[in-house]
Amino acid sequence: MEEEKLLEELNKFTRRKLSPEEVYTFSVILCDNEVDRDNEKFTVKSLEKLSRLFVGKTGIFDHNAKGSNQTARIFSARLESNPERKTSDGEEYVCLKADAYMVRTSSNSDLIKEIDGGIKKEVSVSCLALKKTCSICGANVSKQPCRHIKGNVYGGKKCFYLLEDIADAYEWSFVAVPAQVGAGITKFFASTQNQQETEFAETEKKLLEEIKSEVIKLCFLAYPSSSKGFEKIVEKMSLDELCELKKSLVDCVCGELKPQISAVYKEDLSRFKLGGGKQIEP
Ligand SMILES: [Zn+2]
Repeated sequence: MEEEKLLEELNKFTRRKLSPEEVYTFSVILCDNEVDRDNEKFTVKSLEKLSRLFVGKTGIFDHNAKGSNQTARIFSARLESNPERKTSDGEEYVCLKADAYMVRTSSNSDLIKEIDGGIKKEVSVSCLALKKTCSICGANVSKQPCRHIKGNVYGGKKCFYLLEDIADAYEWSFVAVPAQVGAGITKFFASTQNQQETEFAETEKKLLEEIKSEVIKLCFLAYPSSSKGFEKIVEKMSLDELCELKKSLVDCVCGELKPQISAVYKEDLSRFKLGGGKQIEP
């Protein structure tokens, strides 16, 4: 898009009209239809849904960035396909590309230099997929597990899960380490100045409750005999602390349970999908 058009688009999301000098715009690939390192992939239909859901969403830089200057907002998103490139399961490659903006301030000038210089490269997204389909037998594994385990090969074909029925997109972020199974939700936003940000705060609250109950469930699984009192402790923990605890509990629980059960449980945990590392476009 030309600069003028870009500016017009992004000014739909600002409280006052911003001049070209005030804003920094860049584009990111949020996710694609490639089978990721969790052996899951978005369908093109899911990517289309995400392209609508991510417009207006705020992204964050680094897990500990609390300042509102360390955020960028997506103001347009679209699918781009590449007929030359095929995914590992033989589909035409399609990615979800977004344009984002930041208001330039003295405190984010270094960050902008890093984005320009290609240092901030890994992008993670989190969204809610209500349905996961086994690529081998077509079963809806979010309802009932099938006998296939993703990542395993059956008759020469690798099993993966298709992420479908996208219900919501929560956030996108730049992270140092690409997302992995059980990595959890990273973090959210401090400001609740306008409506969109209020919505984010509500989403955050919902997510906090979700992760608390997941952590409590995991505590019971990990320490069945001494799990009383966990609820009180969990109640006082921050989102970051909960994510950390969840990660180690997942390792603990999934390491000890039988493979079949742990695969199913991992599924339950990874409803909040975190996509793998993606590149910022220059
Ligand atoms: Zn199956």
